[in-house]
Amino acid sequence: MEVKLIEVKRIRGRVHAVALVKSASRPGLWHRVHVDVYRASNRIIIEGQCDCEAFRYGLPCRHILAAADKAIINARLIKGGWGLN
Ligand SMILES: [Zn+2]
Repeated sequence: MEVKLIEVKRIRGRVHAVALVKSASRPGLWHRVHVDVYRASNRIIIEGQCDCEAFRYGLPCRHILAAADKAIINARLIKGGWGLN
């Protein structure tokens, strides 16, 4: 999925990002996603919000996962590095 990161920050070990993710079904439409990725004990937690229909109907959506993936890659480039292991 095509993702445009608007902002990526590392805050207290969390990666926070705002992104636009291209709709797979509607040409020209981009969904706005807010996502946080962090580690809690032995799990990786992905928390996100999206403005797509699936999210509004209470379903998980792929846009949050796509934004999280790109945010993790880019967060590693931020000074000081960041890893999930
Ligand atoms: Zn979505």
